[in-house]
Amino acid sequence: MKNVLEDVTCAGCCCVCDDIQVTTDGQQILEVQTTCPQGQAWFKESLQTESLLPLIKGVEASHAEAVTSAVGLIQKAQAPLIFGLAQSATDAQRAAVGLADQIGATIDTGASAATRALQQVGEATCTLGEVRSRADLIIYWGADALLANHCHRQSLSSGAKEIPRTILSMGIELSRSSEFVDKTISLEPQQELEAIWNLRAVLKGVDLAGKQPTGIDEDSLQELVALIQQSKYVVFFYGPDFKQGPLSHRKIEALSLLIQEIQANRRCHGISVPPAGETKGLENVLAWQTGYAASVNFASGYPRYSPGEYSANARLEQDEVDLCILVGANPLSGLTVNAQQRLARIPVVLIGPAMVELPNLHGFIPTAISGIHFPGSIYRFDGTPLPLRGYVSTTLSSEATVLAEIISLVKQPATH
Ligand code: SF4
Repeated sequence: MKNVLEDVTCAGCCCVCDDIQVTTDGQQILEVQTTCPQGQAWFKESLQTESLLPLIKGVEASHAEAVTSAVGLIQKAQAPLIFGLAQSATDAQRAAVGLADQIGATIDTGASAATRALQQVGEATCTLGEVRSRADLIIYWGADALLANHCHRQSLSSGAKEIPRTILSMGIELSRSSEFVDKTISLEPQQELEAIWNLRAVLKGVDLAGKQPTGIDEDSLQELVALIQQSKYVVFFYGPDFKQGPLSHRKIEALSLLIQEIQANRRCHGISVPPAGETKGLENVLAWQTGYAASVNFASGYPRYSPGEYSANARLEQDEVDLCILVGANPLSGLTVNAQQRLARIPVVLIGPAMVELPNLHGFIPTAISGIHFPGSIYRFDGTPLPLRGYVSTTLSSEATVLAEIISLVKQPATH
């Protein structure tokens, strides 16, 4: 029998649209009413997930065997790392923190640079509802993919009252966005930090004494300053292209300080945008559970935070991990190329709804998808938690259930 569900949430990207109509027969999804190709692909994943089988060293195994094998590896490991969870539901993220605590692991998110910066200087942020209702200048900085996302643009214009606003796109590569924006400003590669400092200086009325600004041309800088000064409420969406490079945490710090300074005269907020296909949340869950939002190490029996030492990339690049447990659909996002190469030297266990080709994959435990097979909750990129529904039956467990199973078994003594 056909069942039509209204207002279903999609966890296919950080926008977490919650207005989608899905038709099912209880066993599988028959139709998804969205024009978003990425959303269609996310709902379709549920068809492939059902055919995934647990593996141990590439050989098919039962679920119990794959879990037992993972537990054996964990019990032998001295320095395990838990990573991924970028597209996972809150209950899985919470279970992963519990497992890290239980086994003395390091746990990190792909967003640790942003977390590090915002811990230093604080974050002035808001919800998308506020942006939709009040913002009259929206600046997309290195967030081209978000700007090109039809669902996101529609969500900002669906309010009762249309707000006259200016849309500005800034960054190094501005390929996709020009048709949707009122103005684009190109910045010099590697000089975005300098551009922010120039902007802060001019907004504060500092006389640059005829010096050419760095990272941004003079006309664009003056135009940007004028736009900000004419606006009542400015919002920066800063995306993955802005957060790249070795100085990414410094850029985020500088932007956050700029936002605080603009607030002296008008409302101004910033919202960090994750890369395509990712959602947010692990940093929130880590912060509740441990007091720290990223790069947490439990080796001493209590949580310790040190971004230079306990970030997943640092641990892997310095060969300080002897087992990696990857969780979720997109578990490598946020790892550097070097860190990914180091995964070939250590055993890796993958727990998630999709297979990822890895050179040293010891075990794969397939899971169902929260939001299709299981209910739960997930964070939208503005930090708003939204409910997920489960409406299709499955023979697979959720990520949270698999992690809980491992926690209960890992407490027992090793059998080999
Ligand atoms: S924009 Fe993102 S959340 Fe919305 S339907 Fe597309 S993939 Fe899903």
